[in-house]
Amino acid sequence: MRFSEKKIATILRQHGYKFTPQRRIVIQTVASSQDHLTAAAIYERVHQEHPNIGLVTIYRTLDILAKLGLICELHAGGSCRSYTTGASEHHHHLICSNCGKVIDFSGYDLSQLEQRLSLETGFDIEDHLLEFIGLCQACQKEVR
Ligand SMILES: [Zn+2]
Ligand SMILES: [Zn+2]
Ligand SMILES: [Zn+2]
Repeated sequence: MRFSEKKIATILRQHGYKFTPQRRIVIQTVASSQDHLTAAAIYERVHQEHPNIGLVTIYRTLDILAKLGLICELHAGGSCRSYTTGASEHHHHLICSNCGKVIDFSGYDLSQLEQRLSLETGFDIEDHLLEFIGLCQACQKEVR
């Protein structure tokens, strides 16, 4: 996991949230998987051991954790959101459409684009997600 539990608890507290057992379980489930998981898949895994945690709680928890940057939100593959852990600072994603591998990258500043969009549209931009979909190196070899 990219954050220690202590750090996670601190970040949650700073934003007025408690580090509840449910939030701990959801973070652990996301972190323990190699793949990115949809909310439904996370629910399935959590539910096996903790049948008292409902789907609504999972959705709400994922939302909070993603907003605070404790987990990564991905949209690749359509309307369904999925989640994974990764680099702790703001970053973007390369996602393999074949095997689902996610590579985090940073160092590209989109603030100028945000400013321009803001000016042109009057939109107050709070954040952005950037994903590139394609084939990872291993999958390119497989396909060829
Ligand atoms: Zn990420
Ligand atoms: Zn791949
Ligand atoms: Zn960015």
